[in-house]
Amino acid sequence: MASSNHEILILGGGFVGLFTALHLERLNCACPRTMIDRNWRFVFKPLLYELLSSETNTEIIWPRYDELLSERDVAFVLDEVSNIDLDNKQVTTQAGLTHSYQYLVLGLGATTGYLNIPGTKENTLPFRDGQDTIVLSEHLRKNLQIAAQRSDQKHEARSQHLTVAIIGAGPAGVELAVTLADLLPEWYEPLGGNPTDINIVILQRGQEILSGLGNEKLKKAARKAMRKRGVNLLTGASVTEIQPEQVIYEQDGETRSLPASTIVWTAGTAPNPLIQNLSIPDEHKNRQGKLRVLPTLQLPGHPEVFAAGDCALNPSDDLPDTAQVAYQQGKAIADNIIALIEDKAPTPAEVSLRGTLLKLGKGESAAEIFDKIEIKGHPGHLIREATYLSILPLPGYKLKTGVQWLTEEIFEQFSALPL
Ligand SMILES: Cc1cc2nc3c(=O)[nH]c(=O)nc-3n(C[C@H](O)[C@H](O)[C@H](O)COP(=O)(O)OP(=O)(O)OC[C@H]3O[C@@H](n4cnc5c(N)ncnc54)[C@H](O)[C@@H]3O)c2cc1C
Repeated sequence: MASSNHEILILGGGFVGLFTALHLERLNCACPRTMIDRNWRFVFKPLLYELLSSETNTEIIWPRYDELLSERDVAFVLDEVSNIDLDNKQVTTQAGLTHSYQYLVLGLGATTGYLNIPGTKENTLPFRDGQDTIVLSEHLRKNLQIAAQRSDQKHEARSQHLTVAIIGAGPAGVELAVTLADLLPEWYEPLGGNPTDINIVILQRGQEILSGLGNEKLKKAARKAMRKRGVNLLTGASVTEIQPEQVIYEQDGETRSLPASTIVWTAGTAPNPLIQNLSIPDEHKNRQGKLRVLPTLQLPGHPEVFAAGDCALNPSDDLPDTAQVAYQQGKAIADNIIALIEDKAPTPAEVSLRGTLLKLGKGESAAEIFDKIEIKGHPGHLIREATYLSILPLPGYKLKTGVQWLTEEIFEQFSALPL
């Protein structure tokens, strides 16, 4: 088996991994570093809806690692990690390579969790990364084509092709539903179809939507955006099984079914299996298998190993699984690796929550900043894009033009507003 030795090995090139690597460079870290990811593109998940709607350039939301890192001092390995041996400080990959390390960063994120509901994995589409988005887009276009071509079909058969069921009314479910409610009519009308036949349904077990969000005004804005676009929200709808093109659910004590050719699952996440299988004491994981790390983001008993983002749980903070948390933690990990290299004590990671940004349709968003300022509609959309673009690790010129343009437009919009 071939083997290689790296000083700093970063597993996963998501928000934690990539930002650790970039920040190490900013700090002029002299240690060689390598980042391994099973995908060849970084995916900017908060802007996945824009990838679906083509509102933002694909290169910005889904850039290739080799391009992103071309002028940076980090080696990129395209491979799937298959085993992590903490005792021997070795990582094995599917390509049969063994990588040794002095410092290890675990930024492997989470996967889709199916909550043990029969048929979910087989009969639903996930929506977590760039590839899922491409698959969903093709699937939707195919069904719109079928519906448009089969005008002879019975109404029920056609309406099944035009029904999109989204399971889960968390941010991903709600944002996807409103984006599709704007997008699908634009795709269907040129095919000769009647856009009012499109039916987008969200099924939510509880009564509340966006239950993880504290801000009631944003929830209200989301409900309003759904109503305006005719999204059907079924609350108190507990999905019990997914059959091919059919959602079975219980509501008001009755078993009901919803025929839908497109069923998207956004209702659950599960820790990465590699993290679940790490050989560490049980008390260092929570019930779901997430890693309990120290405030410095080090793994207890393994000071050379750092973990953060969606695969870890910081016991000193109740932080949500978001990109804004993960990328700040990536920076904190880089600081602490440098501290260890310089024989200094690592410091607790500091993460500030800057606000909540929700995409509420094409060109529309709601932004709540520092729990104080609320901006909706198109100005909200510009703030959301500018916020995300400003942290995107793009080659300098693209970042500059993108953010510059947006910032100018925001200021123009706000100077036109009565103060
Ligand atoms: C649809 C959607 C919308 C979201 N919207 C927002 C939002 O608006 N705002 C916000 O702040 N957050 C949002 N999030 C959450 C945010 O994207 C995550 O919290 C963030 O990506 C976590 O970063 P991470 O580095 O922990 O994991 P990730 O970014 O998921 O990165 C993990 C990386 O590990 C790689 N990997 C996994 N297993 C292996 C393996 N075995 N071998 C090699 N590589 C592997 C993956 O390919 C991936 O690149 C959204 C998430 C989704 C799914």
